[in-house]
Amino acid sequence: MLIDLTAVWIFPAVLVVPVPLIVALVVIIRGQRWFTARRPAHNFVFSTISHSLAAAVAHLAFADLGPQDWTSLTVAGSLREFALVVLTAVIYEAIQIIYVGGAIAAASKSRPNATTILGSKADNVLEAVTTGLGAMTAILLVTMPPTVAIMAVVTVVFNRLAELDQLQSDVRTDPKTGLLNMRGWSESAERALSRTSRGEDSLALLMIDLDHFKWINDTFGHPAGDDVLRSVAEALDQVTRPSDVVGRFGGEEFLVLLPEIDPTAAELAAERVLHTIAALSIDSTDKRGDPTTISGRTTSIGVALFPRHGDSLESLLQAADSAVYEAKEGGRNQVRFADGSVSRRPRED
Ligand code: GH3
Ligand code: MG
Ligand code: MG
Repeated sequence: MLIDLTAVWIFPAVLVVPVPLIVALVVIIRGQRWFTARRPAHNFVFSTISHSLAAAVAHLAFADLGPQDWTSLTVAGSLREFALVVLTAVIYEAIQIIYVGGAIAAASKSRPNATTILGSKADNVLEAVTTGLGAMTAILLVTMPPTVAIMAVVTVVFNRLAELDQLQSDVRTDPKTGLLNMRGWSESAERALSRTSRGEDSLALLMIDLDHFKWINDTFGHPAGDDVLRSVAEALDQVTRPSDVVGRFGGEEFLVLLPEIDPTAAELAAERVLHTIAALSIDSTDKRGDPTTISGRTTSIGVALFPRHGDSLESLLQAADSAVYEAKEGGRNQVRFADGSVSRRPRED
């Protein structure tokens, strides 16, 4: 886990020490990180330059704005200083975003989006908080130097909190596919179900089982099987709406909960999933490690509707599961409703 809290120490340097000492501090901090981060050398040098550059430029800007002596500030003076510190923090962050984001955009093969360049919201909140803690370190350093020890304790606690945040999302996530695991899926699905049961809407549950998946493992090896699982997960993510709850039930079975949907739309959604997986062409490797392409995979999909086939998540899962079984019995490669009322093969196109 790599959570970068270095701004707690680098940002106060921006505010209180000259450029050569800022660069020296960055080199010391980065040098110590070298042993824990285990990043490629070019990557490491690039980030070190990014930190030094942002810190040095922000320092020059701050010095240019004419800061006053922090130990003898009036109320109006401290307000002005506060504005200067905020402005300096913005410059410090902006340079890093332009430098790092620019490199990511230039190196990216596909069209980069805002999140790949700017980082996630959580990343930016963390960065803003650490820079804020850095400003406090600077104030302590100038007014009461020994109290900086408190910041060392604060960063340890803060690091733990950041780890906790990461762990919370890890327990809900299937590491292989990045989809929700059963724990995460059940929590989100229960919430969606209770929202639906309060209103008039219906809801659909799709259980998706890949046909003859064992054959892929036996023929191409387990890494190829994993590639197929990942591609299917990505495809499910793409063909569903943001409000749909997509998860990995286990093995080669996936679940999609579709809130606010009528039976006809549910059937169309299930068929869209079936066609999308059939159309996948997955680059992988065979047992000898040579490149191979896996395509034309079929699926059996069981659909259970709320409230028609069940009024709890458990009964819906049960119903969708037996529908999958019926689909397998019926020759695979098809969508089956829980009461067996609709059974369809994909169009032969
Ligand atoms: P059916 O059409 O009846 O569904 O046949 P199937 O081969 O898909 O189903 P079966 O239940 O016989 O086999 C499922 C296989 O999925 C067996 C298991 O080794 C494999 N599997 C489960 N989890 C994983 C995984 O994470 N990675 C890989 N590569 N294989 C997995
Ligand atoms: Mg199965
Ligand atoms: Mg299967």
